[in-house]
Amino acid sequence: MPPKPTSLAVVAPFYNEAGLIERFYQVLCAALDPLALNCTFVFVDDGSSDTTLQELNQLADADPRVSVLSLTRNFGHQVALTAGLDYADADVVVTMDSDLQHPPSAIPEMLRVYESGVDVVYGVRKNEDNRGFIKQLTAKLFYRLLRRFTHVDIIGGAMDFRLMSRRAVAALRQMPERHRFLRGMVPWMGFSFQTLAYDEQQRVAGQSKYTWRKMLRLARHGFFSFSTAALDIITLLGIFMAGAALLYLVYALLAWVFVGRVVPGWTSVITVVLIVSGVQLISIGILAQYIGMIFEQVKGRPLYFLKQERLAQQSADHPVRQHEVEHR
Ligand code: UDP
Ligand code: MG
Repeated sequence: MPPKPTSLAVVAPFYNEAGLIERFYQVLCAALDPLALNCTFVFVDDGSSDTTLQELNQLADADPRVSVLSLTRNFGHQVALTAGLDYADADVVVTMDSDLQHPPSAIPEMLRVYESGVDVVYGVRKNEDNRGFIKQLTAKLFYRLLRRFTHVDIIGGAMDFRLMSRRAVAALRQMPERHRFLRGMVPWMGFSFQTLAYDEQQRVAGQSKYTWRKMLRLARHGFFSFSTAALDIITLLGIFMAGAALLYLVYALLAWVFVGRVVPGWTSVITVVLIVSGVQLISIGILAQYIGMIFEQVKGRPLYFLKQERLAQQSADHPVRQHEVEHR
């Protein structure tokens, strides 16, 4: 069993969240202050174009426990979380959304679960999704597909509200992949875990920053970086097509030899040509997905750049260090 934690860090990404920052901070502090823990906050501005960064800096002016990182542009939720995790330095680290959909009041419960001796505590949404019918449906479908075609136990209903031990965070930092899908990467690491059900709240202000484009990108990264099933499927499809073609060839030759007639069938020919070329194009598209990801990965670029790195003020008993950031 791990020793009782003495410090906790909260990592939260902010993308154009001006207007709810103060409220988030208040609710968070109200939940954490009663805990006998050294708390720090790593707030990451994901290239916001509103006053998010100024508001975060105001928090840091007033509270020396607050670190504020600002990415040079919008790199996306998963990268913003990764940046925060790179800088979080505590026995336990909690990642959560900054719109109060993940209730800070669940953090003390997560800690209790953690103290039962696991490395990761996944917050699992217990209420129905309040995100609209189509988003719910597509999410359900996506996770079913993911569970079916990957070897990772993706936990149903687990969003990016989770608590991780120091060693789980350290392990995650060693995973330099560009196409980040933390909901798959964390379970993949294989550390012991428990889940904790929480009630997801409505967003307190503003609108969802997850556009359809961003969601599709996340889904693409999740699926293609955790499964090569699509490659197996096109291989099988190829074998099936080749088999069918061979049979047809035999039939055509027999017809030519024994019946001696060649049917002028334009419709059948064009149908076959269209279907086959469609399947080929889709197959090439699937290959292109992987090639594109390999291409981006081998460039080996850093995952993000910072335009501001404002670290929580150090204290003798609880230094906040910057570590393992150089290689990114
Ligand atoms: N977010 C971010 N970068 C982005 C999109 C979102 O840092 O490009 C943050 C956002 O500020 C919020 C969290 O990620 O704290 C979840 O986003 P959001 O609430 O918009 O998504 P939803 O809850 O609708 O899925
Ligand atoms: Mg939200």
